[in-house]
Amino acid sequence: MDDAQIYNELKDTLNYHSYRYYVLDDPAVPDAEYDRLLRELETLERAHPALRTPDSPTQRVGAAPAEHFEKFSHDPHMLSLANAMSIDELTAFDARCRKMLDGVEAIEYAVEPKLDGLAVSLQYAGGILKAGATRGDGKTGENITANLKTIRSIPLKIMPAGHELCPDRLIVRGEVIMLRKEFQLLNRERSDSELAPFANPRNAAAGSVRQLDPRITAQRRLDAVMYAAHFSDETLFETHTQIIECLGRWGFKVNHVTRCRTIYDAIAVCNAIEARRDELPYEIDGAVVKVNSLQLQARLGALPRSPRWAIALKFKPRQEITVVKNIRVQVGRTGALTPVAELEPVSVGGVEIRRATLHNQDEITRKDIRIGDSVVVQRAGDVIPEIVKVLDDRRTGHEQIFTMPAQCPGCGVAVSASDDEAVVRCTNRNCPAVIRESIRHFASRDAMNIEGLGSKLVSRLVESGRVTSCADLYDLSASDWQALERMGDKSAANIVAAIERSKNAGLERLLFALGIRSIGRQSAGILAAYFQSFEKMRSATRDDFMAVHTIGPEAADSLRAYFDDHRNLDMLARLQASGVAMHPVPGTSDNRLAHKTFVLTGVLQSASRERAAEMIRRRGGRVAASVSRKTDYVVAGESAGSKLMKARELNIPVLTEDEFLNLVN
Ligand code: NAD
Repeated sequence: MDDAQIYNELKDTLNYHSYRYYVLDDPAVPDAEYDRLLRELETLERAHPALRTPDSPTQRVGAAPAEHFEKFSHDPHMLSLANAMSIDELTAFDARCRKMLDGVEAIEYAVEPKLDGLAVSLQYAGGILKAGATRGDGKTGENITANLKTIRSIPLKIMPAGHELCPDRLIVRGEVIMLRKEFQLLNRERSDSELAPFANPRNAAAGSVRQLDPRITAQRRLDAVMYAAHFSDETLFETHTQIIECLGRWGFKVNHVTRCRTIYDAIAVCNAIEARRDELPYEIDGAVVKVNSLQLQARLGALPRSPRWAIALKFKPRQEITVVKNIRVQVGRTGALTPVAELEPVSVGGVEIRRATLHNQDEITRKDIRIGDSVVVQRAGDVIPEIVKVLDDRRTGHEQIFTMPAQCPGCGVAVSASDDEAVVRCTNRNCPAVIRESIRHFASRDAMNIEGLGSKLVSRLVESGRVTSCADLYDLSASDWQALERMGDKSAANIVAAIERSKNAGLERLLFALGIRSIGRQSAGILAAYFQSFEKMRSATRDDFMAVHTIGPEAADSLRAYFDDHRNLDMLARLQASGVAMHPVPGTSDNRLAHKTFVLTGVLQSASRERAAEMIRRRGGRVAASVSRKTDYVVAGESAGSKLMKARELNIPVLTEDEFLNLVN
């Protein structure tokens, strides 16, 4: 193939992906793959400028509006943003701007998160929302006024703000987004109704706002954050940051924009935004650096596709393509069999991924994942990596269909489908895999915290047949450990001492360590603070359990089933006889924060967040990840961001670190 053929083929591929992404809201490949292909095209165009045609994706914004919407003309046009993939590309951008501005020494920049949603434009006349549209190809978008009116964070009427009266003609631009939480809910519902899930919150937001029936949009709970405005009176503001502050006062949702004196300050802010990426309730895919002065923006002007005065620093992608090498079945501590995909190692968001959970057979069938498939994998924050979709056009015909085994891979006993259908369980109480996983969990850091008792040692212990329940750990002597492993006197003494120490872990940790289904760390802390002893829990009814804050019917049933099983009671009796504390250990638990929900944000000086969360749980409180009307307190450390803003918006008491320490101590 010659260069022209390669170029045309690449262009067709990119145009096809743009159509899937912008028109169908159903991308065929992850953004990272699209961006790689686009960069290849750019390189070819630089080498052979004659090849470039006006329909090249490097010259165009988005895609033409879909036929079934009324068209909407944009004035001024809606552009995209130039991308920087590295810090060097940001300093090069700064150098370019300074050169064009006659060599000025430093430019003031405004830096803000780059929201990963769908760009929209809102038109106001006399302060009233008249029309709203998608970006489309930048010149012509889709008129989706009725849909946009269903989004609560878009004001239908502008709030007057002091002397800043709303100009007659106002155009506000921003991004329609879907919170991660809403996205997960929506995909769960779609999967229940056998509809294809959306690939990510961006596509879900776009698919929801580009509906022909506004009632569907209204059900989707979208949000809109604004980042630009155009006025009839152009002398109203001098800087981008002034515009954003004023939009906030007029009732629009806006993000915090940081003013930076130089590009180096701007880079530091970009890094800080990336570091806090996972704390935000919505997806961002970068940070945008804009020349702050409107006058300088006008002097710099624009290219066909993007303004010269702004650039987006793209963060590491969260989705990538890889291959499923094999599917293995893991047996968990509750006996649940979980299929896990072994992947060709791939770096996603800077972390190497080798495995992804496939949850259960239904999930594998629904996504039609086969051994040998090319797949899109995703990782967000500390969430376990998962397979988003299969790239079925890459199949060769050699892929193998996987089905869950009828026997437990740990013990060979037939498995049974459980009450919650999708999960298959091994019900053999003597299954070595189940015993191994329950002991691993029992000894883990958040449970009994038995130092030195790691995964390998537990496996060896179970394989030797020396231990079949957590209670057996307390019967092992130093010589037993030495016999098990080629272990020196000191190591054996250390492990015996660590096991001895764990006897004082306290009710909260013990309750979590037992691995009762649906009882996580948080619930264990709350239950321990509420009941204060096993005796009370043993005689508690399902309703008694449900009276406890955060304990729902599923957890209550699971607790009842646990205490109804005499084998569990026998094991507890053995633990007690060995001297394991069955009550809250003094100083580890009280009940003063019962029924209170906290959200932690920012950096605390005196304790890590994890430690602060533990302090709350030990006092019967609950720690939530995001601020809502149900939050009782927000604890704000240094450089607290969006959660603090949300707390103020909802009028939720905000505690400083000292106030928090006073409350818990
Ligand atoms: P872009 O998303 O990279 O950047 C431009 C857009 O950023 C603007 O239009 C605006 O909507 C948005 N934005 C968010 N926050 C902003 C802020 N604070 N200030 C200004 N603008 C802000 O560019 P694009 O042209 O919309 O689309 C390109 C993106 O779409 C790339 O990430 C690409 O990977 C993806 N894409 C993917 C596929 C695929 O097949 N997966 C296909 C086409 C495009």
